[in-house]
Amino acid sequence: MANQKIETLCVQAGYTPKNGEARVLPIYQSTTFKYSSSDAMGRLFDLEDSGYFYTRLQNPTNDAVAAKICALEGGVAAMLTSSGQAANFYAVMNIAQAGDHIVCASALYGGTYNLYAHTIRKMGVEATFVDPDCTEEELSAAFRDNTKAVFGESISNPSLVVLDFEKFAKAAHEHGVPFIVDNTFATPINCRPFEWGADIVTHSTTKYMDGHATSVGGAIVDSGNFDWDAHADKFPGLTTPDETYHGIIYTKKFGKGAYITKATAQLMRDLGSIQSPQNAFLLNIGLETLHLRVPRHCENALAAAKYLKSHDKVAWVNYPGLEGDKYYEAAQKYMPNGTCGVITFGLKGGRDASIKMMDSLQLIAIVTHVADARSCVLHPASHTHRQMNDQELIEAGVQPDLIRFSVGIENIDDIIADLDQAINKAFN
Ligand SMILES: *Cc1c(COP(=O)(O)O)cnc(C)c1O
Repeated sequence: MANQKIETLCVQAGYTPKNGEARVLPIYQSTTFKYSSSDAMGRLFDLEDSGYFYTRLQNPTNDAVAAKICALEGGVAAMLTSSGQAANFYAVMNIAQAGDHIVCASALYGGTYNLYAHTIRKMGVEATFVDPDCTEEELSAAFRDNTKAVFGESISNPSLVVLDFEKFAKAAHEHGVPFIVDNTFATPINCRPFEWGADIVTHSTTKYMDGHATSVGGAIVDSGNFDWDAHADKFPGLTTPDETYHGIIYTKKFGKGAYITKATAQLMRDLGSIQSPQNAFLLNIGLETLHLRVPRHCENALAAAKYLKSHDKVAWVNYPGLEGDKYYEAAQKYMPNGTCGVITFGLKGGRDASIKMMDSLQLIAIVTHVADARSCVLHPASHTHRQMNDQELIEAGVQPDLIRFSVGIENIDDIIADLDQAINKAFN
């Protein structure tokens, strides 16, 4: 059945059992796969045939879940990784090497900022961070001859900037490089970056996709839209022979599957950040209800944002789904059905009041997590972003008093009651 709706894809895509096979996607808890001839296995190692031989490269459970995420995003090929960090690392390093450069929107998840500002720099890849609200001219000025990709988050964690997809896609394509979008917060339920010019999408599946805080994981999806051969000089890894596979050329042999095949055949082979089949199984169960949970997260978040906005002890509230928010119009354009379940706010008493309020919560837990069924809070300046100095915090859009509030799918009256008693305690 072609053109199934996203709700159906959440439940059914990626796995279609044949007659008499398990109805539920099985966990292929096997590192290895059996062949009847030495030659048959040899052809797999040469990428001459496709098939399974070792789970570090491919596993049927993982492939089925990757195929589901691929369908949800409307891509042509996808792979799972052990974490969102691994996904963002591979997404860039699959097309950049020492001496190269990338352009990033500066409003980023703290881990991604560290990865691109520091870790890949030590490997010789430099990143320029641009204000996500910069002008087209400022964005264009960030590019260099050795720029290989543009990166941004559809809704940034935790600064909740809605990415100006069209501006970033235009700049990337004018400079002959792909536009990579981390779509973790919006999820394909609310936003499909490929429809707005993104070429590659990444996910921390740890968040809404799993949705139950059971499994760390990531995914990379390729739209198949970027023409590597048209910019062959920039992407020799895809367009010239790979000596580690007897000189195959990825774009020639795999066409639209080139990018994901290369990431699997080289990066996964050599660096090995695989998702365990057990985690992929749990992720798949989460994905089945993604289309039910995400709207509920958004509905609860909007109600909580309105409550906070009207509270006289609350200094400020950011929520791109809230009318009057700086990114409300952008959200209406790119994700009209909803944004995410995450709100940020600060109390009038500043950093100290924020911490006292958090310590008084009863239902809402302090955890280093976001985007699962249970409501939770975090203070990025003390937790996820604590390596950053104040200047870096502000550039990443994180005020020192900012509380990141991930609104769960409990009853909204209970969520607001807990907030209310905790805010009262913070001022007593
Ligand atoms: C959490 C997160 C990541 C990192 O993912 P992990 O699964 O924790 O490695 C990357 N990007 C965004 C937007 C995130 O929220």
